[in-house]
Amino acid sequence: MIIIMDPEATGFEIENVVAEVEARGWQTHISRDSGETIIGLQGQGQPMDPFHMGQLPGVRHTMAITQKFKLASRAFRPEDTTFAIGDMIIGGSQLAVIAGPCSVESRDQLLETAHAVKDAGATFLRGGAYKPRTSPYSFQGLGEQGLKFLAEAREATGLPIVTEVMSPNKVPLVSVYADVLQIGARNMQNYDLLNAVGRAQKPVLLKRGMSATIEDLLMAAEYILAHGNYQVMLCERGIRSFDNKYSRNTFDINAIPLLKEVTHLPVVADPSHAIGVRRHVRAVTLAGIAAGADGLIIETHPDPDHAVSDGDQSLTLPQFAELMDQVRAVASAIDRVV
Ligand code: PEP
Ligand code: MN
Repeated sequence: MIIIMDPEATGFEIENVVAEVEARGWQTHISRDSGETIIGLQGQGQPMDPFHMGQLPGVRHTMAITQKFKLASRAFRPEDTTFAIGDMIIGGSQLAVIAGPCSVESRDQLLETAHAVKDAGATFLRGGAYKPRTSPYSFQGLGEQGLKFLAEAREATGLPIVTEVMSPNKVPLVSVYADVLQIGARNMQNYDLLNAVGRAQKPVLLKRGMSATIEDLLMAAEYILAHGNYQVMLCERGIRSFDNKYSRNTFDINAIPLLKEVTHLPVVADPSHAIGVRRHVRAVTLAGIAAGADGLIIETHPDPDHAVSDGDQSLTLPQFAELMDQVRAVASAIDRVV
């Protein structure tokens, strides 16, 4: 249940409602949206009578939320969530374009990519310093040195940084360098990590696990929101299906409009990890925009054939620039701007 207070409700009336709810064993989550105070009930308390609660002084109305995810639901917050990162507003009419290599490999590789994607119109730089690799023998990332290269690239281009954090104890360190903390698909249900990024109060890009349902993704986001951190972007990056001969994963295009319907959080499409094939990244990118994505994350590399990770799906720098012209065209057809 959520309890929506009158805009004129006094502090005393709000406290009174909170006390009544907590006396019945619930925890409360208070949000203040455009001057309106909303009290959400969390945890497992005794049943509450919506009629009785609706009669308390200062209460405008109460609403039952039937979904398992509460704070992420449209019922809780009907308006799209928007937040600023640098000059960019995420979740509004602007389309966010996050581009860069899968892994930060060297200073030169990263700076060359950063300048090229910036010139082509990207709005964020991506690059992994800590890499979740299927094999322990594969390149694991440059660690803090990679983060330093990312910070230098931000300094040089002004592009905010999106980079992955893999464990809760690295959240403070990665937060020093990153503008957006990426949670990888393999970590979508690492609850200690979700709690840690929730507490960090930094923007988060939460990738859908490769076998996670849409509800699983929303429940994972709920962990972050429960800490009062609403700066969360959900990312569709392809799910495992039965065909892995021609594509790496299956891009779940359905997820974009479905998520936009049930949640107020912005949604980002990742065509690179979804299809996993360089020559087809363009088609999936454009489809993602048309489906209503609020942003894109596209792997881009100066020499993809020699990349240490995900080269097969990484665009060359000229390919990315060419794609951006088409991104702008499709975006403008549905009244969005890059
Ligand atoms: C990545 O963005 O390079 C990455 C590892 O993505 P995912 O977690 O979606 O596999
Ligand atoms: Mn990758």
